[in-house]
Amino acid sequence: MTPAEPALHVPHANGGARGAASDGGGPAALGPRIEAMMGALRGTFEAGRTRPLAWRLAQLDGIRRLLVEREGEVLDALAADLGKSRFEGTITEVAYTLAEVDHLAKKLASWLRPERVPMSLLAQPGKSYVVREPLGVVLVMSAWNYPIMLALIPLAGAVAAGNAAVVKPSEVAPHTSRLLAARLPEYLDPGAVRVWEGGVPETTALLAERFDHIFYTGNGHVGRVVMTAAARHLTPVTLELGGKSPAIVDATADLTIAARRIAWSKFTNAGQTCVAPDYVLAEASIKPALLAKLGEELLAFYGPDPEKSPDFGRIVNARHHRRLAGLLGSGKVVHGGQLDEAARYIAPTIVDEPAPDSPLMSDEIFGPILPVLGVPSVDDAIRFINRRDKPLALYVFSSDAAAQQAVVARTSSGAVTINHGFLHMSVPGLPFGGVGPSGMGAYHGKRTLDTFSHQKAVLQKGTAIDPPLPYPPFSETKLRWLRRLL
Ligand code: NAD
Repeated sequence: MTPAEPALHVPHANGGARGAASDGGGPAALGPRIEAMMGALRGTFEAGRTRPLAWRLAQLDGIRRLLVEREGEVLDALAADLGKSRFEGTITEVAYTLAEVDHLAKKLASWLRPERVPMSLLAQPGKSYVVREPLGVVLVMSAWNYPIMLALIPLAGAVAAGNAAVVKPSEVAPHTSRLLAARLPEYLDPGAVRVWEGGVPETTALLAERFDHIFYTGNGHVGRVVMTAAARHLTPVTLELGGKSPAIVDATADLTIAARRIAWSKFTNAGQTCVAPDYVLAEASIKPALLAKLGEELLAFYGPDPEKSPDFGRIVNARHHRRLAGLLGSGKVVHGGQLDEAARYIAPTIVDEPAPDSPLMSDEIFGPILPVLGVPSVDDAIRFINRRDKPLALYVFSSDAAAQQAVVARTSSGAVTINHGFLHMSVPGLPFGGVGPSGMGAYHGKRTLDTFSHQKAVLQKGTAIDPPLPYPPFSETKLRWLRRLL
């Protein structure tokens, strides 16, 4: 196993198995390779090559061309890793990434203009403004569930902000990881952007290096590992984590719409979506009707045998398949429930009333199993959610404006969507990120640029006049004036 550096142009250099040792004698031998890579990237950054707007736009164009010219390869890799249909791969990865990249490219010149801010009276005359400067060499560590989008949107932000970058794709999606390692250096400046493949040993060795920012997407356990490693160098981090994102359905909701939109958000990518509704809290009076509607929608989406549907994905590997199978056992399966480990298939499954302390209701599910619990009221749903970790996303289906606003005002989550599923992700002006255990920092749209930039304060004065007010010797008169001017 070799962590492939793009400069080597070695497709399929890394089998991508988690925990695989590198060639050349194991993790200890990784050090010199990483140092060489980091030295090259630092050299490029320090030489100023990544700063000009033209370079930045050329890298964004490189990402665009890669996605357009290699779309077939990208979709094949996604199908091999996740059984992702061409439709889903196109919409949720290729087109979605292109939209973010194009938005960045279109706005970049104006976003990079220094931002004038008003002067304090004391500082006048003069001007003050904010400039966005690149951070240096940044690390993008992505997860396997949307392995193109989660690597390339942060990378777009990193290069748009004028940084050099290392991309660490997830070894759990090995086909996509190899594709990124092989193709990124063909389309982007290989002196400034490297791909580092591998599992835990390769990532551990990489994290020992000093980066100027780490952008990590994945689970909270590894998030702690990343943050601990970053702390050694006082490196700032963005942590895009997950957790259990609830959906509330109250008695006033349009149940057909609620069921359809919940099913769409949950069963896209076979439930392996960080913002998928993890579980549903339904007002008890409408729960039976909602369960029936969810069943109808699943039938309409995937037919009587979803295993035969080309539109329904697969579990990424046998380990995750076993993990998900182990979550079933509490509550009544009212839809689906079929499992086939060899095919990495789990039917879209709905579980009625699992115990609130069961594994299904304790851990993030991250698969095609949807628990539905009855609650007496929206207030009870809010209390249930507030007793647990702050989620990445929260969905409320209701026609009652007061109930909608109560959920927005009295809960904390990365995002709230009213009467739909994960559609908030498609609005670049909305920050995408978690709060508390679901993450820190945010991106999308202008925030992607902000995340990878330092916003530096600049104050510029002339020398023609120099009032003596702030300088010693001090006096009561000076103090009175200064109090007014501050
Ligand atoms: P993963 O296993 O691919 O891990 C993510 C990254 O961490 C990979 O690059 C991997 O190589 C690295 N890694 C894994 N173990 C490590 C270790 N011990 N030390 C150092 N590095 C290590 O992905 P995952 O964590 O299974 O992803 C699923 C989780 O990610 C879910 O919780 C999901 O909600 C969350 N997620 C969040 C977002 C978001 O945008 N907020 C998006 C996708 C997934």
